[in-house]
Amino acid sequence: MPATPLPIVNPATGAVVVRLVADGPREVALHYLAARRAQPAWGATPIRKRIATIEKFREQVIARGDTLAQTLTQEVGKPIRQSRNELKGLVARLDFFIAESARTLREERVFSDPAQKLDERITHEPLGVIANISAWNYPYFVGSNVFVPALVAGNAVLYKPSEYATLTGRHIADMLHAAGVPEDVFVPVIGGGASGAALLSQPIDGVFFTGSYATGAKVAAAAGKRMIKVQLELGGKDPVYVCDDVDVRNAAAGLADGAFYNTGQSCCSVERIYVHEAIHDAFVDAFVAEVKQYRVGDPMDEATYIGPLARAAQLDVLRAQVADAKRKGAKVLLGGAAIKRKGNWFAPTVLCDVDHSMSVMRDESFGPIIGIQSVADDNAAIAQMNDTDYGLTAAVYTRESSRARRILARLQAGSVYWNCCDRVSPRLPWSGVKHSGIGLTLGTMGIETFTRPKAWHLRSA
Ligand code: NAD
Repeated sequence: MPATPLPIVNPATGAVVVRLVADGPREVALHYLAARRAQPAWGATPIRKRIATIEKFREQVIARGDTLAQTLTQEVGKPIRQSRNELKGLVARLDFFIAESARTLREERVFSDPAQKLDERITHEPLGVIANISAWNYPYFVGSNVFVPALVAGNAVLYKPSEYATLTGRHIADMLHAAGVPEDVFVPVIGGGASGAALLSQPIDGVFFTGSYATGAKVAAAAGKRMIKVQLELGGKDPVYVCDDVDVRNAAAGLADGAFYNTGQSCCSVERIYVHEAIHDAFVDAFVAEVKQYRVGDPMDEATYIGPLARAAQLDVLRAQVADAKRKGAKVLLGGAAIKRKGNWFAPTVLCDVDHSMSVMRDESFGPIIGIQSVADDNAAIAQMNDTDYGLTAAVYTRESSRARRILARLQAGSVYWNCCDRVSPRLPWSGVKHSGIGLTLGTMGIETFTRPKAWHLRSA
C-alpha cells in the first residue's frame, strides 16, 4: 500500500511547514506489538517511579516552553499568548496528577473481621494497552488528561495526536521519552482518520477519544463489538443565561472572552447566549463593544487575540450558519464573513434576533461566532438551554446565589458555572451528557478510570 502523505500546514498562511508520512496499518500493528510487549514491565514498576517520570516530564515542559508554544501556534494558529497559557495550564494539571495519583490508586482495605478471619480489599490494575485518540484544539490539555494518568496507572499508551497537531504530539513523545518513559510504553501514532481507524482494529484494551460527535460515534461502534473500555469526550453547544440583575459590562466582557478565546475553538466555548429581555439591548451593545476591541491578526504577534481557524473546512460551516440565520431573520451586528487573506480566517461574528430554528443556535459552530437571544424569564431560558443534543457545560450570570443554584440544578450538562464560563479545573471531573460524551477525565475519578478494580476476598486459615 502506498504511503499516505501528511503535509503540516500553517493555518495562518496556508504554507506547508513540513511534509510527513502517516502511519499505515502495518506501522500501527508494529506499534501495537511493541506496546503490548513493553506494558507488563511498566505495569510492574513501582508507582512512585512512574510518577517520577511525570515530574521529569514537567521539568521538560517548563524548560522547552518557548519552542513548544511556537510550534503550537505554527501548526494550530493559536495566538501565542494563549499557547503559553495552555502550557501553564498543563503544568497545573501535572501538579494535580503528581500529588493525587499514589493516594488514589493505593490498595484499599474496605472490610476486616477478625472473628471471620476475613479481609476485603481493592487494588487498581492497569487496563493494559490503550489508545488515546486526540483533538487539536488544546492538544496539551486533552492529551495529558488521558496519557498522564494512564501512564501513572501502569498502562502502555498508543497516542494518536490529531493530524492538525502532529508536531505537538511529537514534542510530547520526545519529552516523555527524555523523562524516562520507555519508547514502547508511550508510542505516537502519526496520521489522520485512517491511522486512527487502524489503531482501533488492533486488540487494544481501551480507547480514550477526544473529538467530534460524528467521529466519536464511529469509535464507539468499533469498540462496542470488542467489549473494551470506551471514553468519549465530544463536542458542545454550551449555553449561558444572563439574568436581569447583573453588571452588564462585566458580564459582557466575561462572556465575550468565553466565546472568542482560542478563536472560539474550545469544546467549552460559549456558543449561545440567552439574555433576560429587561437588559437584552444594553447587554448586546456592551458585548459588541467588547468584541470590537479584539485584535485579529498574526498569531505569532503578542497583541493578537483572534487568529485563524485551525481547519479550512470549518470556514464553510460558519458561512452556512450565517447564511441560514440571515435567511430566517437574524441580524448580523459584527462580522459575518470570511476574511480575504491567505490561510483560514473568519471575522469575529455577533448575531442577534436568533432563535432555535437556526443552525447557529443548535449545531456546534467551533469558531468565532455567537448568537444572542432574548428570553422572557428563567423558565424560558432553562427550556432553551436544554434544547440541544449536547450537554458539556452551561452557565448562569446573576448576583443571587439561590437563583443560580435553582437554575443550574435544572441544566443538563456535565459542568455548570455561576458567574464564570469556559473553565476547566484539574480537581473536578470533566464529562458530558447526551452527545457530549461518555465517561470522564480529571479529578481523582479521572485517575481511577484508567484502571480496573480487582476485588480481593481474603480469609486466613
Ligand atoms: P475529529 O472528530 O475530527 O478528530 C478527532 C480525532 O479522531 C483526530 O485525531 C482524528 O484523526 C481522529 N479520527 C478521525 N476519524 C477517525 C476514525 N474513523 N477512527 C479513529 N479516529 C479517527 O475532531 P477534532 O476536529 O480533532 O476536534 C474538534 C472536536 O472535538 C469538537 O467537536 C470539540 O468540541 C471536541 N472536543 C471535545 C473536548 C471535550 O473535552 N469534550 C475537548 C476538545 C475538543
